Amino acid sequence: MLKLYNTMTRTVEEFKPITENEVKIYACGPTVYNYAHIGNLRTYVFEDVVKRWLIYRGYKINHVMNITDVGHLTSDADEGEDKMEKGAKREGKTVWEIAEHYTEAFKNDIKKLNILEPNTWAKATEHIQEMIDMIKTLEDKGFAYYSNGNVYFDTSKYPEYGKLAKLQLDDLKEGARIKVDKNKRNARDFVLWFTKSKFENQTMKWDSPWGTGYPGWHIECSAMSIKYLSEHFDIHCGGIDHITVHHPNEIAQTECATGKKWVNWWMHGAWLVMEDKTKMSKSGDGFLTLDKVLAESGATPEGVRYFLMSAHYKQELKFKWDSIKTAQKTVDKINNFVALMNNINVEGDLKVKQIVNNNLQGFETSLDNDLNMTLALPYLFKMMTEINSIKETLTITDAKYVIETLKKMNSVLAVINFNNEEIPTEIIELVKKRNLARQNKDWARSDELRDLIKEKGYSIQDDGGKTTVSKL
Ligand code: AMP
Ligand code: ZN
Repeated sequence: MLKLYNTMTRTVEEFKPITENEVKIYACGPTVYNYAHIGNLRTYVFEDVVKRWLIYRGYKINHVMNITDVGHLTSDADEGEDKMEKGAKREGKTVWEIAEHYTEAFKNDIKKLNILEPNTWAKATEHIQEMIDMIKTLEDKGFAYYSNGNVYFDTSKYPEYGKLAKLQLDDLKEGARIKVDKNKRNARDFVLWFTKSKFENQTMKWDSPWGTGYPGWHIECSAMSIKYLSEHFDIHCGGIDHITVHHPNEIAQTECATGKKWVNWWMHGAWLVMEDKTKMSKSGDGFLTLDKVLAESGATPEGVRYFLMSAHYKQELKFKWDSIKTAQKTVDKINNFVALMNNINVEGDLKVKQIVNNNLQGFETSLDNDLNMTLALPYLFKMMTEINSIKETLTITDAKYVIETLKKMNSVLAVINFNNEEIPTEIIELVKKRNLARQNKDWARSDELRDLIKEKGYSIQDDGGKTTVSKL
C-alpha cells in the first residue's frame, strides 16, 4: 500500500488518486532570474522521486511545472525588488533575455540530473489572459479589491485562510513578520495584479481591466494548474518555504474562484543547508550551481543526484564536499557491481531469486512508506553484498535476474550506468606494469605497454596521478 505524507493533514495517508491509474501533479518551478542552486535542485530531485515512484506503481502521470518569468519579488509577500528586473540589471540584458537564458540553463540542469521532464512547461508570461480571467472571477465574487493601483486578495473573506500553514488567528491579525502595506485591508492580503507600485519602469506589462501592469506571483500557479490539470487534481509539491505564504495564497485564491477543494495532496521537500546550518540561497555566499559542484568535486551528475536523494525528503540535508565524494564512491560501487554481473558467462539455472526478491521487496516497501529512501537504499547494498558473497557460483541467468532488478530499482534512482563493462584482469595487470615503468621513468617501456593496451581495445588517461582505463 502506497502511503504519502500530506502537509495539509500533517499525517502519512494511503495514497488514492482522483481518477484510477492516473495522477496529476503540479510542481512550483523556478524563478528564472539566475541559475538554480543545488538546494533548489534537491527539491526537483525529490519531486522526480515522487513521480518516478508513482510510475513504478503503475500510474500514468500528468506533470505540469511552471516557469516563473514575471511577478516574483525578492520577498514572497509582495515586498522588495522584482527578481527578473534585478537579474536584468545585474547582467545588462533585457528581462526577456534573462528569462530565456536561465530557463535553458534550468532545463540543462535537470537533464543532467536525470529528472524526467514535465508533460507541460507552463511559462507565466504566456498565460497572462488566464490570470486576468481568474482575478476577474475573484473580483466578481467579492474576494478581490482594488486599492491604490493594485488588486489584492481579501484574506478576511476566506475563513480557511492559512489552513495549510496552520496559521493561528493571532498570526493573521498581527501579520507577524509581514511589513504592513497600507493599501492592504488585512496584513496577509496579497497582490493579484500590480499596476502602479514602486516599479514604474517595469518592462513586462500587459493591459488589464485594472490598467496596464503585471500579475502577482501566486496567481500564475493557480491559473496554469487549472488550465492543464483541471480544477481538482492530486498532488501539488514544492519546497517547505512554500508552506507559509505561496501555497496558502494559491489555495485561497483558487478555492474562492472555483468554490471547491483544489488539491488532495500537498508535498514539501526539506532544505539543503550549508554546514553552518544556513539555508542555501541565491543571495547568500554559498550559492552553488550544479556545474560548480560538478567541476569542484569531480563527481558525475549521478553522484550528485545520489547525494541529493540520500536523506529522507522531509529531513534537512547538509551540503558537504565529502558527502558528494562518498555519494560518488557509492555510485561507482554500484556500477562496478553491474560490470561484474555483465561479465558473468557461466551457463546455468537461476539460483538467486530468493535473495533478490527479498531485497526488492524491502526496497519497495520502504518507498511505499512515504518514499523512505534512507530505508530503501540499504536493501540495494544488502543485495549486492549477498550476491557478491556467492559470485563464484553465479550463472548468466542469475546475473540477468540481478540486472533486471537493478533496472527496476534504477527506474526510481536514475543513477546506475548499465553499459559498464568490467575491465579484464589482463588489462589491469598491464596497466599496473605501465604505472611501474612510469614510476621508474622507463618511458620507452611505458609507451610500449600503452600501445599493447590499445591493441587490446582499451585506452588509458592519466589525470593528476590517477589513471583511468576505458574501453575504446
Ligand atoms: P525559486 O527558484 O527560488 O522559486 O525556488 C525553486 C524551488 O526550490 C522552490 O520549490 C523552493 O522551495 C526550493 N528551494 C529554495 N531553496 C532551497 C533549499 N535551500 N533547499 C531545498 N529547496 C530549496
Ligand atoms: Zn507555485
